[in-house]
Amino acid sequence: MILVIGGAGYIGSHMVKELIKSKEVVILDNLSTGHRWAIDERAVFVEGDLGSPEVLKSIFSEYSIDAVMHFAASSLVGESVTNPMKYYMNNVSSTLTLLNTMLAFNINKFIFSSTAATYGIPDVDIITEETVTNPINPYGQSKLMVEHILSDLGNATDLKYVVLRYFNAAGAIESGEIGEEHDPETHLIPIILQHLLGKRKQISIFGSDYDTEDGTCIRDYIHVTDLANAHILALEALLAGTKDTATYNLCNGLGYSVKEVVEMCEKVAGKKANVVMSERRAGDPARLVASSDKIHRELGWKTEYSLEKIISTAWKWHQTRLKIEQ
Ligand code: UDP
Repeated sequence: MILVIGGAGYIGSHMVKELIKSKEVVILDNLSTGHRWAIDERAVFVEGDLGSPEVLKSIFSEYSIDAVMHFAASSLVGESVTNPMKYYMNNVSSTLTLLNTMLAFNINKFIFSSTAATYGIPDVDIITEETVTNPINPYGQSKLMVEHILSDLGNATDLKYVVLRYFNAAGAIESGEIGEEHDPETHLIPIILQHLLGKRKQISIFGSDYDTEDGTCIRDYIHVTDLANAHILALEALLAGTKDTATYNLCNGLGYSVKEVVEMCEKVAGKKANVVMSERRAGDPARLVASSDKIHRELGWKTEYSLEKIISTAWKWHQTRLKIEQ
């Protein structure tokens, strides 16, 4: 069985949908940001905190867990600056409790959700796993700290792990049954689509004076099911013993500016957006675009979703959600 921590959250719930096709799944989630509606009925669901050794011990005693995937983290950059303690407690301290308890139960296979924020403001056009990590906010720091902890534990114990650094996760499962929903929503694509559905009066572009072609920030958007499939390849490699430790970027290798994303959303929805130019948002690097050659080469991962397909699946989900709310 595979334990998916944070399996009721946006990326974790999409992970479960793919994983459950071939594996038995236990989900641990405290529903602080995840949703009960996102939990797959075929999985065992335990409501609880990953920072609680008692909760972890009861799961590890009751189920035969072969590997752990960890999606449960606080992930708002701005909040991490104003409330760093929350980030170090939720993302570092809880993960230490998890790893400590796993090792006590001889569970030694771990897949960790890391982030492009570990790179800070990169000094290269295309980020590779060799690019220097230099986070500029506590969120990125907290993830990088866990990466360092994993490296030390990998040297000292028989822990086997894969670190996956996500770029901009977006989109939804093709069926439209689950999708991205945060409260508050801060991410670009859901904000634009909510506006195009009439839920917001306007959208703001944060900064139009960046050193990019059209002056807005460039990001590398990656579909959530492509992300999930990378985890499955990583899991298979750990279970087969063909990988002991690895770190991979998960991205499309293509950069789109905020303006280009707005235009693509308009095209998919067939509507014009009401756009306001605003001040830069603190902590935003101008450009984050990466290469996923390493995971392609080593594990055979390929992405299937273009930006247009990413936004089309997100649009389908947002329309479904609106119908449920009405
Ligand atoms: N952004 C924007 N308006 C919004 C939300 C986001 O202009 O209402 C910009 C943001 O400044 C960044 C890009 O869109 O340059 C992607 O932001 P998001 O929060 O989706 O992801 P991040 O790159 O911060 O992880």
